[in-house]
Amino acid sequence: MNIFNMTALQLGEKIKNKEISCIEVINYFFTNVTNKSNGYITLTQDYAINRAKYIQSKIDKSENLSILAGVPISIKDNICTKNIKTTCASKMLKDFIPSYSSTVFKRLENAGAILVGKNNMDEFAMGDTGKTSFYGSCKNPWDNTKSTGGSSSGCASTLSCKEAILTLGSDTGGSIRQPSSFCSITGIKPTYGLISRYGLVSFAPKFDQIGPMTKDALDCAKTLEIISGYDKYDNTTIKKSNFTFINKNFNVKGLKIGVCKNFIEYSNKDVQKEIINAINIFKNMGAIIEEINLDILDYSIPTYKILSNVQCTSNMARYDGIKYGYSPKDVGNLEKLCIQSRTDAFGVEVKTRIMFGNFILKNKNTHYNNAINAKNYITKQFKDAFNKHDILLTPTTPTTAISFNGDNDSDIFLVSSNICGIPAISIPCGFTKNNMPVGMQLIGNYLKDDVILNTAIQFQKCTNFHLKTHNII
Ligand code: GLN
Repeated sequence: MNIFNMTALQLGEKIKNKEISCIEVINYFFTNVTNKSNGYITLTQDYAINRAKYIQSKIDKSENLSILAGVPISIKDNICTKNIKTTCASKMLKDFIPSYSSTVFKRLENAGAILVGKNNMDEFAMGDTGKTSFYGSCKNPWDNTKSTGGSSSGCASTLSCKEAILTLGSDTGGSIRQPSSFCSITGIKPTYGLISRYGLVSFAPKFDQIGPMTKDALDCAKTLEIISGYDKYDNTTIKKSNFTFINKNFNVKGLKIGVCKNFIEYSNKDVQKEIINAINIFKNMGAIIEEINLDILDYSIPTYKILSNVQCTSNMARYDGIKYGYSPKDVGNLEKLCIQSRTDAFGVEVKTRIMFGNFILKNKNTHYNNAINAKNYITKQFKDAFNKHDILLTPTTPTTAISFNGDNDSDIFLVSSNICGIPAISIPCGFTKNNMPVGMQLIGNYLKDDVILNTAIQFQKCTNFHLKTHNII
């Protein structure tokens, strides 16, 4: 039984029905995973084997566990795992072992899921190719000369090359959805506040959200049910628990889908073709398709850059060589220690953003205020759109997987949902003539995560784009 051909729910079902034990699953995992895409920074074999024995003993006693009991999971390396290295793919934290676990990890542990590794990423989640990682970039299984996207690069590469079953990423400005699209997997950035950020290493806390990256939308929805809801350790979480996201009676018939025409026109011809095909599939499923123009493309990225980098600047101030992280020896005095640790241990991208954020904060009345005005304008555009439409449909990215040189535009359709705090999912919707994956983004109104998830679930019931794998590594 090749566990990598199954979704998390399918594997969980087999473990529950005792067709395979979770000890066998974990042994299979570590026998077969060679980290061929460089998507893991740490593999947690000893932890996982112990945990599997414990979970199996509960299964044997027929204790009531979740459907993810015994299922191997991996987590982006900016999400804290107690006693397990959490590096943020930075030299600064390369030896950092957290003394506590993030709420999402605790919830998954309580549900019986088994951590098998920590995923590679752009340093401190800053990047769009994975190449800013201190541990080197990941390989895109669909084309090794192209990036996996970023910053959740390892989550996407390991799922795509069949070395992971279920992963958690983080999305500050597209970092779940862009690599999901480039590697043909499913990933959701939930509504801001739906998931606790306790234990997520901050980049831009007003935008950061953790979300599942999985093989299909059903796995995303089930994982969200486990990790979402109020957390007393994160005051920005929504004061509600026990969300359900899977609605078996959900029907796409009559659903009003606003198709963002100007986003499609902005995309290249290969992407356009597959998106138009996907729209036709929705039409055949009975959805009401209406074209709209969202006037945000000129403002999204500048607004995101200004607002995320001022937050980044103040968050990165905690790394001073004193409290934790990299600390050079014998530098003389405290000031020199602070300067030297940051000089040695941050990569170029992180340093650039800290400087950019400081520049903006020094000139607060100009760029920063403009960005706040633009944020309000973008929010209004979405508000108006959701008065008329249930969901919005766009390509996830204007092109397929970009090169390692990066591309300033690849997040252009994504950052606005972080700016507004609304949910958005990327699902596979086709392949170009060169066999490169194309992703489609479905954006929902605030707290309408269930609507985009069920729409995605129904789309995947009618299509098999998400099942196609291509492994040239
Ligand atoms: N590519 C974007 C950036 O570099 C998004 C990062 C993210 O979502 N973590 O800022």
